[in-house]
Amino acid sequence: MEGKVVIVTGAGRGIGRATALLLAKAGASVACADRDEAPARELAAEIGPTALGLAIDVADRAQVDAMVAAVLARYGRIDVLINNAGITQDATLAKMTEAQFDRVIDVNLKGVFHCTQAVLPTFLAQGKGKIVSASSVVGLHGNFGQTNYAASKAAVIGMTKTWAKELGPKGITANAVAPGFILTDMTRAIPAKLLEGAAERVPLKRLGTPEDVAQAYLFLASDASDFINGHVLCVDGGMA
Ligand code: NAP
Repeated sequence: MEGKVVIVTGAGRGIGRATALLLAKAGASVACADRDEAPARELAAEIGPTALGLAIDVADRAQVDAMVAAVLARYGRIDVLINNAGITQDATLAKMTEAQFDRVIDVNLKGVFHCTQAVLPTFLAQGKGKIVSASSVVGLHGNFGQTNYAASKAAVIGMTKTWAKELGPKGITANAVAPGFILTDMTRAIPAKLLEGAAERVPLKRLGTPEDVAQAYLFLASDASDFINGHVLCVDGGMA
């Protein structure tokens, strides 16, 4: 990843943080974007002078445009966009509020749309670029209590496959990662008993780590995956 510039959204915690650290270790210059300023800046400081910490909400187009402008001002190019930022606001269909539905769609779906559209002119000018977005096994198979989340993650797959066709001729690839149960703050909210049950359903008999997913992002961000386009890579220990 030497000489590559990568944006990682939602880099403050969990999978995004692990991905930013791994990409930086592999030689990339990483722009670490998060809704919270402190974790983004702390992570950038931890990585060192090649990194940049940015506070942005991916659901806000003006903030996303400012992020891309800041990255271009600092590095002059963008090679990879990792659309990792995502949230859950779970409720059964009967109880889900419109506000819960809208916020998850705004972050997980519109956030990916905003960030990808914002980097597109740079990718087109370069004649190369890689879009890697966070879907989920829930987007492939559904999950109890996650109408909004499942819809958003299935939509990420739809957009990824569309961009693969639309942008492939311009040298731009689009792929998605579909993690299973990964131990982060997002899944720590799930009762321990349910998490144990989830681990039992994984053929590898364990939950994933943020680093497991970061390795998939690294592959899809690197030149090693140049002929892979429109793919959804499950990182779920064989669960799905
Ligand atoms: P996490 O631990 O909750 O971390 C998510 C990060 O994204 C946080 O740093 C959060 O910032 C940031 N974020 C949230 N909303 C944002 C916004 N509007 N703009 C910018 N940043 C925002 O989540 P995770 O488990 O690492 O998940 C990362 C991605 O993988 C998500 O897209 C998730 O849906 C997906 N995924 C996770 C799992 C899993 O089992 N963990 C499984 C499948 C897919 P704050 O600190 O401000 O909240």
